[in-house]
Amino acid sequence: MKNEAEKILLRLKSEADKCKRLYESANLVFGVGPATAKVILVGEAPGYQEDKQGVPFVGAAGKNLNELLEAAGLRRGDVYITNVVKARPPGNRDPTDEEIEACRPFLEGEISAIKPKLVVALGRIAARELSGTPVTMSKKHGSLLDCGYAGVNFKLFMTYHPAAAMYSGRMKLELKNDFTKLSKILRTLAG
Ligand code: URA
Repeated sequence: MKNEAEKILLRLKSEADKCKRLYESANLVFGVGPATAKVILVGEAPGYQEDKQGVPFVGAAGKNLNELLEAAGLRRGDVYITNVVKARPPGNRDPTDEEIEACRPFLEGEISAIKPKLVVALGRIAARELSGTPVTMSKKHGSLLDCGYAGVNFKLFMTYHPAAAMYSGRMKLELKNDFTKLSKILRTLAG
């Protein structure tokens, strides 16, 4: 028997086709992970590999994310992973405000169904969406805020997008340090 949150996620996924219709040709990339997850990770929008496979964070950024999760003592299968926008913008450009708005009911639905204790914003687009304010990640990364989104209160942890680690050694190190910090925060939330 599926629990209520799982049923809501399945229904949202079937309705999220409207998100992929924002683009001429794109596949739906909905969130994955357990409906009982205590932690949700939110990226920006799917890339090429994600579009091909229909799963978030399976390309190069996903490989980095897996390594970061492992280093933090988290199993990918224990967290719910999703994106602000559920289909790939052409040419990997940033999603527009209209596209973010069109996909908002789905991120809201995921968060209100799962009711996480902690949400990790991966990059400035997710951080802005969840905190409701523009975020300069070089200033705010590694910080933890009290956040309310979709009627759910949780801790919001902000860090760089894992793709950033592919281009800058400094950000790679900062991301790794942020995930170490995250693992400590998770231990205090669990205890
Ligand atoms: N970048 C994102 O923000 N999300 C993905 O799923 C992949 C790359």
